[in-house]
Amino acid sequence: MNDDIFALPAQLFPFANALTSAVMLHRGGKILLANDALSRLSGYAPEELARMDFWALFPPPACDRLRERDSGRLDSPRPTTLDETVIVTRSGETRWVEMSVSNQVIADAPTVFCSILDITDRMRAETDQLQARQLLAQIIESGPVPTLVIDARHVLTHWNRACAQVLGISAESMVGTRGQWRAFYESERPILADLIVSGTIDEMIELYGTQNLRRSTVIDDAYEIESHFPHLGTHGRWLYATAAPLRNDAGEVIGAIETLQDITERKHAENALRKMQTELEATVAQRTSELSHAKATLEEDIDRRETAEAELLKRYVELTELNCRLQETHQQLIQSEKLASIGQLAAGVAHEINNPIGYVNSNIRSLKGYMTQLLDVFDTYEKCEAELPPAAREAIAAAKERADFAYLRDDIGQLISESEEGTGRVRKIVQDLRDFSRADSSREDWQPADLHAGLDSTLNIASNEIKYKADVVREYGELPLVECQLSQLNQVFMNLFVNAAQAMPDERRGTIRVRTGSAGDTVWIEIDDNGRGIPPDLIDRIFDPFFTTKPIGMGTGLGLALSYGIVQKHHGNITASSTPGAGTTFRITLPAQHPADPGEAS
Ligand code: ADP
Repeated sequence: MNDDIFALPAQLFPFANALTSAVMLHRGGKILLANDALSRLSGYAPEELARMDFWALFPPPACDRLRERDSGRLDSPRPTTLDETVIVTRSGETRWVEMSVSNQVIADAPTVFCSILDITDRMRAETDQLQARQLLAQIIESGPVPTLVIDARHVLTHWNRACAQVLGISAESMVGTRGQWRAFYESERPILADLIVSGTIDEMIELYGTQNLRRSTVIDDAYEIESHFPHLGTHGRWLYATAAPLRNDAGEVIGAIETLQDITERKHAENALRKMQTELEATVAQRTSELSHAKATLEEDIDRRETAEAELLKRYVELTELNCRLQETHQQLIQSEKLASIGQLAAGVAHEINNPIGYVNSNIRSLKGYMTQLLDVFDTYEKCEAELPPAAREAIAAAKERADFAYLRDDIGQLISESEEGTGRVRKIVQDLRDFSRADSSREDWQPADLHAGLDSTLNIASNEIKYKADVVREYGELPLVECQLSQLNQVFMNLFVNAAQAMPDERRGTIRVRTGSAGDTVWIEIDDNGRGIPPDLIDRIFDPFFTTKPIGMGTGLGLALSYGIVQKHHGNITASSTPGAGTTFRITLPAQHPADPGEAS
């Protein structure tokens, strides 16, 4: 234990121990008093401290300096000193302390009072900060991107080499000043980093729009601007600047960092591109206008051509129609002429044949009677033959044999029957011829008539012809009374019905459909069959007089010719359409009112 301790007032010890900072007293040698806080700081127990010289706490260079400085302090008191120094703890660890040394008079003796504060943590933090700052400075300095940093007072703290190179001003003349504007402008005005620090950037954006100056889309709080600086380089330069605020832990802006990128080449390329695009657009617009003009002309041309074509087509249709009508008229003319001349011929022939056939017929009838009587006489002779002398019987037998009497007797009746049938046929032809020639000269009155009644009665009369061959289906529409010579029309219907029935093939039963209807002032009648039909090469000939495909004795070829004439006389029309194997349709159209023929007796 140090003897001097006893020289200190006892109440000092608890007082010293109550202090949180380390304190010690010495009088140039051994430590007279060291409190618990010093024990904790140095790691020495209070007893160990009480045996130590006060400078032993300090490592050699500091220890020597302190000893030297404080030597003689007790003899001539000095003002209080405040040092930052280090102590070495019992475990050999070095700790930074702040030590105030003052002269005190304790127990009537000059005494040195040391108060020691552990500042190791602070010092470490400061060192770390310094190092971080240096690192940051290095990062900024060695970065290839021109970068500058200003602090909250707008004072430049960093101006890296790239910055100096691009902007042509050295860091020495810039760092520590507020002259960052000098690198960009001729007169003082804030750069992007200044606007961030002063917090006026959003106002600027509002004021000048966001065309060049805008918020960064990548970094929060950062802003970017593309500007042309006419005073940079020989012909001015385009710079793309990005700046972001630097904030302390509390989030307060303590500066701003700004990076720059020379985008002059890009801008030139963009401008050239834009110019090219504008030129291209102009060319396209011109071409488009030329094209649309050409298109309009073409469309006009097409319109004109289409109109001309339509007109041509219309003319063509009209011409075709006219031609058709001409052909029809021509056909009708031919047909009428044919009919007229054939009518005359038929009338002549019928007249010429009618007389001879009349007496041939009556002679045959007389012959038949005479023959019956003659044969009766022969029979009587034969019965009396037995009573004749043999020579007479032989002569008769020889004569009979020569004449083949048995055969003659048989054949003579047949010959007369065939002749009767032949004259009957001739009579029918004559009748047809007379009907045909009379068709044009009928004196029957023109009367409004019910064609349905006409059709029904004709079907009745023709039923013998039809009933074994086909069924009749009536599909009658509404018909007005038609002014006509009904018996003549009935003759037409009869021809059509008989033809339809005869067109049915033997192996199956057919159907004849009778349809009627009206349209406006016209009525129509259709007689349709599903018979064997008419080959296309014959259809144009069926109305020709004497055209027939029927076997001899079955057809005269006058039915349709006669019908054609009757319908024509009624100012109507008769047409036929046919599909071989499927059937034939005859269609008659008639005016409901008979237009009076010039010179016709009403
Ligand atoms: P015909 O009946 O005496 O032959 P038509 O003048 O009435 O004389 O007919 C002329 C020809 O027209 C007939 O021989 C026949 O070839 C044809 N024909 C008429 N009507 C029909 C029909 N419905 N089906 C098939 N052929 C028909």
